[in-house]
Amino acid sequence: MAENNPLQSLFQNFEKVTNCVQTHFSNFINHRLSPPSTDGKPLLSLAPFLKTQNNPSSTSDSTHQILIKGTSPVPVTKEELGRATWTFLHTLAAQYPENPTRQQKRDVKELMTILSRMYPCKECADHFKEVLRANPVQAGSHDEFSQWLCHVHNVVNRSLGKLVFPCERVDARWGKLDCEQRACDLQGTTNFGDIFK
Ligand code: FAD
Repeated sequence: MAENNPLQSLFQNFEKVTNCVQTHFSNFINHRLSPPSTDGKPLLSLAPFLKTQNNPSSTSDSTHQILIKGTSPVPVTKEELGRATWTFLHTLAAQYPENPTRQQKRDVKELMTILSRMYPCKECADHFKEVLRANPVQAGSHDEFSQWLCHVHNVVNRSLGKLVFPCERVDARWGKLDCEQRACDLQGTTNFGDIFK
């Protein structure tokens, strides 16, 4: 029977060894290629190879398979991180209640302070600390917070030589999260004015 064929068993063992060598080789070359150059960019990005991983037609390409195994993550740029963070912050501001609770006001201030300490770009975090010192968080209402955030985003924009955003248009640019039946909205305190209307 084929299963008892000594040659087949030899080939199977050989295949195992080859796979093992491929894995170690790919780990080795990724270690050699991944360290960033002096300007912070990787010497060789494996992004094109990772993208082909999602393309089923390329899965038979053994060269790509070697490079995909054990590959380093594709680095996020400062710009991508910035855009993602501003999207998060402006969406939070869009959902910030008209009448926030005391806890929500505290939380949002703390969030900004933590961001100025933990933002994963040190020069940005250090700069943001100064921005916060000069512009303490204002979060007494939805309008106050979204206008304050627009203002501090403009402070960062100016420092980077970017265009200043017209803050009267902030609600037109950033809306609440698209979420069924407003299930994602933050709830604030009850507005007593509304009860007695
Ligand atoms: P972004 O500035 O990322 O803005 C995204 C979108 O928001 C824009 O396309 C526009 O539609 C809208 N927008 C722009 N301005 C406003 C506004 N004022 N109000 C409302 N919406 C607006 N990068 C650095 O190089 N150095 C730094 O020190 C630095 N500090 C940062 C500090 C923080 C807290 C954050 C979140 C980011 C920081 N960045 C910094 C990144 C930088 O601000 C940008 O995100 C990045 O340069 C990409 O810019 P962008 O032109 O794509 O638009």
